[in-house]
Amino acid sequence: MNVGFEKEVGSKPHSIIPYKARTTRKVRQAVAAVGIERKARSVWALRVDGLVAIARPPPKIISKKHKKVMKLDILVFAAHPDDAELSCAGTIYSHVLQGKKVGIVDFTLGELGTRGTPEIRAKEAAASAEILKLSVRENLQFRDGFFKNDEAHQLEVVKAIRKYEPSVILANAITDRHPDHGRAAALVTEACFLSGLKQVKTYDGDEKQLPWRPKAVYHYIQSNYIKPDFIVDVSDAWETKLASIRAFKSQFFDPDSKEPETYISSPAFMEFITARAKEFGHSIGARYGEGFTIERNIGVKNLFNLL
Ligand SMILES: [Zn+2]
Repeated sequence: MNVGFEKEVGSKPHSIIPYKARTTRKVRQAVAAVGIERKARSVWALRVDGLVAIARPPPKIISKKHKKVMKLDILVFAAHPDDAELSCAGTIYSHVLQGKKVGIVDFTLGELGTRGTPEIRAKEAAASAEILKLSVRENLQFRDGFFKNDEAHQLEVVKAIRKYEPSVILANAITDRHPDHGRAAALVTEACFLSGLKQVKTYDGDEKQLPWRPKAVYHYIQSNYIKPDFIVDVSDAWETKLASIRAFKSQFFDPDSKEPETYISSPAFMEFITARAKEFGHSIGARYGEGFTIERNIGVKNLFNLL
């Protein structure tokens, strides 16, 4: 796998220093050999002949349906594996049922979670991807709890957007109990704008990427109540959504688990998820609904297309 040292910091000319490496450990060994400074779990500063470059491991493919990378209709970004399932799996699956291609890019492996391990959560994320019939699921391996909305992270998100060229992007709640959620929301919004700019240069391996701006960014709603701008009827997808949440066995209610109880592992939490969806559904005359907020006004050409 090709790990590019993508950005030089300092006054030296910009260039890509390609580096062949298979795993993060190999990157670590290689950079140690040339005098690397460890900046963060997934970001490395490389010094070669006085130049400093930033490198990070390539995205981890958690699940992939087709060999060839394809254009997606909907790309979902999520700070943690399971954010998408809890907040918008109904919307994802109802669009899959309508023939749309949907993928998820998780930012972190959720390594700060009280229950389970990053390895277990990666397996659970892959199992959920099967249930939701996702076209692809990737993990950018940002640092749970500490990733930033800065240039290095924005460029990683831009790369994912340009790789999949989605029409619609779904992203974390604009504000929430977990600070990663609001930060991820802002990171995606800014990356969507930057992704449309020709002068922001990114590479997929050795290949230069073309600019791409999605038509719309919608933010799902997570723990804290936010009044939605629109609600999707997910009644037909509800059972599949529950199955996708249950795929995260280590995180949610399991009567046989010996792990410590957390905010999300109690039976009350699943009741809350159902209650929220019933409330949103009820308000549009459906059994279950998922709410979203939008950063601009919604326009329609045909009044009869609204539910
Ligand atoms: Zn989360």
